[in-house]
Amino acid sequence: ESLINRIAAGEIIHRPASALKELLENSLDAGSTSIRVTVKDGGLKLLQIQDNGCGIRKDDLPILAERFTTSKLSTFEDLSRITTYGFRGEALASISHVAHLSVLTKTKTSPAAWEASYVDGVLVDPKTRQPSEPKICAGNDGTTITIKDLFYNTPTRLHALRNFSEEYSRILDVITKYAIHNPTVSLSCKKATSTAPDLTAPASKSVPQAIRLLYGHSIATQLLEVNISSSNPNVTSGEDEEDEDAMDLDIPKGPIKWSAELHFSNANYQAKKTVFLLFINHRLVESQRIKRSLEAIYHGVLPKGTSPFVYLSLEIDPRCVDVNVHPTKREVHFLNEEEITEKIADAMQQKLAAQGQ
Ligand code: ADP
Ligand code: MG
Repeated sequence: ESLINRIAAGEIIHRPASALKELLENSLDAGSTSIRVTVKDGGLKLLQIQDNGCGIRKDDLPILAERFTTSKLSTFEDLSRITTYGFRGEALASISHVAHLSVLTKTKTSPAAWEASYVDGVLVDPKTRQPSEPKICAGNDGTTITIKDLFYNTPTRLHALRNFSEEYSRILDVITKYAIHNPTVSLSCKKATSTAPDLTAPASKSVPQAIRLLYGHSIATQLLEVNISSSNPNVTSGEDEEDEDAMDLDIPKGPIKWSAELHFSNANYQAKKTVFLLFINHRLVESQRIKRSLEAIYHGVLPKGTSPFVYLSLEIDPRCVDVNVHPTKREVHFLNEEEITEKIADAMQQKLAAQGQ
């Protein structure tokens, strides 16, 4: 059974950056305003994330790393919300199958902090590795999650990830993107061996301000903004859509509610590679289809061989996002993807054209 769990965990946690993404989402979900990440050997030796969020209640610690048992899943209604953050309580469970996981946490109302270590989903004593209780200790409000020796029990995976600097830069990339999407949160990342952080994203006021801080001044003066939403009733959930087998939750009838916030480069900004940040319901996802459609707008606007910067935050009724496509599978899908993408592209195009006049 533990082998099967290990394989399943590997489907969710591909590499240090995917573990970190899950932990970051949990910290953000907990209302943290400050998040510190510490990394050793590209996250394979050590990946630690310290936040000042709401903390975890002592009573929740014994089941924290069990699959599908987390608080958010206690009702059906909550199940339809899983696309907002996290998914089905699998992240910590998965990590506990492929690494040494420990949690130090304190809620505001608790007089003390609690520490717990997990192996294969079970809260254990870190020394004897036998089932155990949380241990009382000193600590600040918030949560520190420590992952050590990621993939220690899956040697093939470990072997495939031996380029530590590659893994580290993927971690920095994930943090940078979440920092832009969460401008009011202060984030930093450092190597365990150094004192100075390699990435500091101080809390700022707005997404464009965060983009300027993290991607530099050249982009900041050249950003356009568009906000659009589903005011048009033509965008509805068609019953004959191909997505029907992709969802077993009840699909809403009538118009799909959505809204999009975009910050994108104008015609003066040119880079070698497209930077495309896509958040759907506050979750960093990938969609080559949407990326390509938005890139296409710049054809004829930008000189050949140059590329744009596009940040898109899309909020859709969670019931319209395909939750059965596993979030760690790269591509995300949602109902009326094409129509929504087209509307967004049109709005961008208009804004770019207006700039040229
Ligand atoms: P999910 O996020 O899908 O519920 P996870 O395995 O990622 O599953 O997390 C399990 C639960 O642990 C979360 O629902 C949350 O209640 C709690 N949790 C995890 N990390 C934190 C954190 N940093 N602060 C507060 N609670 C947390
Ligand atoms: Mg989660």
